[in-house]
Amino acid sequence: MRTITILGATGSIGQNTLDVLSRHPGDFSVYALTAHSQVSAMAELCLTHQPKYAVMGSSQAANDLKEQLSGKVSTVVLHGLEALIEVSQSSDVDTVMAAIVGAAGLKPTLAAIDAGKTVLLANKEALVMSGQLFIDHAQRSGAKILPVDSEHNAIFQCLPEAAQEQVGAMSLNEHGVDYLLLTGSGGPFRDLPVDKLEQQTPKAACNHPNWSMGQKISVDSATMLNKGLEYIEARWLFNCTEPELKVVIHPQSVIHSMVQFTDGSVLAQMGQPDMRTPIAHTLGYPERLKSGVGGLDFTTLNELTFRQPDYARYPCLKLAIQACWDGQWATTTLNAANEIAVQAFLDGHIQFTDIAKVCDSVLQNSTPVSADSLEVLFNLDTQSREKASQWVKEYGLC
Ligand code: NAD
Ligand code: MG
Repeated sequence: MRTITILGATGSIGQNTLDVLSRHPGDFSVYALTAHSQVSAMAELCLTHQPKYAVMGSSQAANDLKEQLSGKVSTVVLHGLEALIEVSQSSDVDTVMAAIVGAAGLKPTLAAIDAGKTVLLANKEALVMSGQLFIDHAQRSGAKILPVDSEHNAIFQCLPEAAQEQVGAMSLNEHGVDYLLLTGSGGPFRDLPVDKLEQQTPKAACNHPNWSMGQKISVDSATMLNKGLEYIEARWLFNCTEPELKVVIHPQSVIHSMVQFTDGSVLAQMGQPDMRTPIAHTLGYPERLKSGVGGLDFTTLNELTFRQPDYARYPCLKLAIQACWDGQWATTTLNAANEIAVQAFLDGHIQFTDIAKVCDSVLQNSTPVSADSLEVLFNLDTQSREKASQWVKEYGLC
């Protein structure tokens, strides 16, 4: 029986993880579930999965949850960062699903890494924000990182076993890999005239053609900054050089990413666009678990097409690729600026096309520093959020 903590249990990844777990009663026990503010959704999860602990973002949310659970289940309700860290590093836990959205996930995820857990990594922003430091912590503790993000999970599946054992430190070249090809659907605005992008609403941006996801990653998919964050995520997970990493648009989302080998072979991982597949892969690795996802019917697939990303449509993707090779200061800065910009867009304070403007302006107004400690990373994060908020105040809609 494996014991698991799910950080971000009420989110899209969290709920999909619980869906897969519920198909394997007796194999996993849920130690802790965490959520920020969704009390009723969390109450429902606690009643169904009976975790030992539930962690909420505030004392108010924790009190509300206690009230809803009172007399029904013995789950202990906690709140705050210390509790998140505690349920991530507890010696009673062997696996942590890191599925909090944004930089808020970094500290609890690092706690799991430092405690040497098997970390199923969905929270890409944590790795984007901390890069080498995150990898160094995993190397030191011996924590196993298994990528949940569908593209990285696809690449991981296509790599030889010896490379799978060296996440964060492999030499792709030594494993016969020429380059990695990250695929992306291009999001809901892929075929829209570029001059119509400005007027797009949050509802339209969140209406992804293939995947059902949380709001932030949905907007990131529309700007393709999501692919940019994934590019940075891949750079760290697979220890890539610039020529070893490419992005291609693949509207059907059937191929979830590919590996080009030096002998001319290409390995691709395919399947329905359903996160339960990569989640089940990480939960079962190296074995295969039933995920609830059906097979691919090739006779109904009309076509698989590919095209180059157009940076006039996706300026955020270009910014992220540039930031990746400019250094850690740039990716931490970009990640923080984007979180503020996306929230401002969702709140109706800026237009869709302003997201790239906020990110660009904050990057332009930041100076390179050596970002090699958590303190420097969090300072950069805070300063970038302030600069981005200032932009929104000055040039936003209200
Ligand atoms: P979501 O918005 O649906 O859920 C986020 C979860 O994090 C919720 O449980 C929420 O309560 C919690 N949370 C939010 N802010 C928090 C805070 N400040 N402190 C503590 N907890 C907080 O997001 P999601 O779509 O499930 O994505 C989660 C992560 O997984 C993101 O990093 C995303 O990029 C990544 N990811 C998601 C998908 C997907 O299909 N949804 C695919 C690949 C990667
Ligand atoms: Mg992805």
